Amino acid sequence: MQPIGIAPPGYRGRIAPSPTGYLHLGHARTFWTAQERALAQKGCLVLRNEDLYPVHCQAHFVTAMIEDLKWLGLAWQEGPDCGGPFGPYAQRQRHALYLAAFETLRAGGWVYPCVCSRQDVRRALRAPHARDDEPIYPGTCRPTAALADGPPQNSRAVTDGFANPRPNKPINWRFKVTPGEIVSFVDAHYGPQQFTGGQDFGDFVVWRYDQWPAYQLAVVVDDALMRITEVVRGADLLLSTARQILLYRALNYPPPQFCHCPLMVDATGQRLAKRHGALSLRTLRAEGLIAEEARARWR
Ligand code: GLU
Repeated sequence: MQPIGIAPPGYRGRIAPSPTGYLHLGHARTFWTAQERALAQKGCLVLRNEDLYPVHCQAHFVTAMIEDLKWLGLAWQEGPDCGGPFGPYAQRQRHALYLAAFETLRAGGWVYPCVCSRQDVRRALRAPHARDDEPIYPGTCRPTAALADGPPQNSRAVTDGFANPRPNKPINWRFKVTPGEIVSFVDAHYGPQQFTGGQDFGDFVVWRYDQWPAYQLAVVVDDALMRITEVVRGADLLLSTARQILLYRALNYPPPQFCHCPLMVDATGQRLAKRHGALSLRTLRAEGLIAEEARARWR
């Protein structure tokens, strides 16, 4: 796979919107923080188009997000519209890089094939999961030898001998999380964080039945190969950061620093989502707001 090489000196941050709808004030505030942190360090800001899932991502949302971000006052030095040394900057164009990383995980015995659908996982769970996150995988397809030993040295034996018990079911590949393993990091906003494998999160999908990576793998490959030194993003991804730290280790990439931003809520305390059309940057622009006024709404 592509060698990671020596990171260029200096701060490299990124903003990584998914073009699944119009950006709202919550995204804008997080991206603004990313820009401020990059500027404070006299660093570089990268725009990455996270168009991984074509069913949800639409070309007109890509155009809109670039326009809206520029309108808001964001400027990036590398991105899909201006290029740069670590492109391409759209995930749909990076398949070969993801596949190479997946092959590394497979060869290292970090992953196993799984035929469980989301419904199967939900059915197999005794208790409903309370968190705003995916349910903990009950381990139905997990090879038992690997459970006892942690990451096996060679999973080819495990996976090559894998007989799909339901051959007409699609296969996703899951990353093996060692139960009880503590993953900790110091977040630049929230301070020390600690999550426990098997309790806070379980084996997670890294490679999907459609031969594309899941979000967790794609974002780690991209942040590592784009030499990102600090990831600034929403607090809803704190737990994903724990998963991603395990991927950095398995892929032998140096992990970046992390800064998670508080999420914006609406008047009823609900987290802002793309369905909050009224707070989309598009709508605010159409209402004649100038960028400074939009920015003042989150102060
Ligand atoms: N593309 C993700 C989103 O729009 C963000 C991923 C990340 O920052 O790691 O929610």
